[in-house]
Amino acid sequence: MPELPEVETVRRGLAPVMEGARFAKVEVHRGDLRWPLPKDFARRLRGQTVTSVGRRAKYLLTELSSGDVLLMHLGMSGSFHVFRGASNKALARYHHQRARRAAHDHVVFHMSSGAIVTFNDPRRFGSMKIVARRALDAEPLLRKLGPEPLGNAFDAAMLARACTGKKTSLKAALSDQRVVAGLGNIYVCEALHRARLSPMRVASTIAGRSGAPNARAERLVEGIKAVLNDAIKAGGSSLRDHKRPDGDLGEFQHHFRVYDRAGEKCPTPGCRGVVKRVVQNGRSTFYCPICQK
Ligand SMILES: [Zn+2]
Repeated sequence: MPELPEVETVRRGLAPVMEGARFAKVEVHRGDLRWPLPKDFARRLRGQTVTSVGRRAKYLLTELSSGDVLLMHLGMSGSFHVFRGASNKALARYHHQRARRAAHDHVVFHMSSGAIVTFNDPRRFGSMKIVARRALDAEPLLRKLGPEPLGNAFDAAMLARACTGKKTSLKAALSDQRVVAGLGNIYVCEALHRARLSPMRVASTIAGRSGAPNARAERLVEGIKAVLNDAIKAGGSSLRDHKRPDGDLGEFQHHFRVYDRAGEKCPTPGCRGVVKRVVQNGRSTFYCPICQK
């Protein structure tokens, strides 16, 4: 499932082809995504210029000249595919090459720049919604989200405050979108390993009695920011590697330190531990029992 770095990579791939361009044509092949697209979906987009492609947690926020915002979420299996070039010849080739996948191309944006952006989602847990800009603060999908982990406001003091009095595990706390937005199973495991903190540790132990952050909170915030920045950097290089005119936004190469590496040697220098898998709240956790305390 895409987490914050993957969504940020998609944003960086979409921004140059969508910003400043109009929706010339919008095709909806299947409107029953996670929830149904509104009946007037295509009509509200058509003719509007994209003023910016932003992101909040795992949502893409595409701002339109009409004052509407198109919210898009990749769900479990969503991806965008960008095709550049408007010639009919190229278009035919594109459809031919992608005939097998076209069954899952549920929404297709034809931009005035000639770029064609398709949303492909075999499992259809992805979603799209149009919200008026002025109603964004009250939008239920966004309203309860915690701070952006890469924002300047997110620091050890903020994380410690959010964890004060929490008797749940650090794994559960960091997976809670109200504590910090955009992290999922993978990057929570990776951040905890970098911070050398056990996923089972009680969340409140990163704060002192007064709620002040201790050294663990400092390490954890550093670990979260570092792992996200590294993943975004890797995603950015995968974007640059696309030499073809078309690019898949949603397929990523990753180098995880502990995630899905049960039985392998812990990568922490000097540590003799072996990565272990346990189940917490129904989800796999990967960690090193030696260096993560
Ligand atoms: Zn270790």
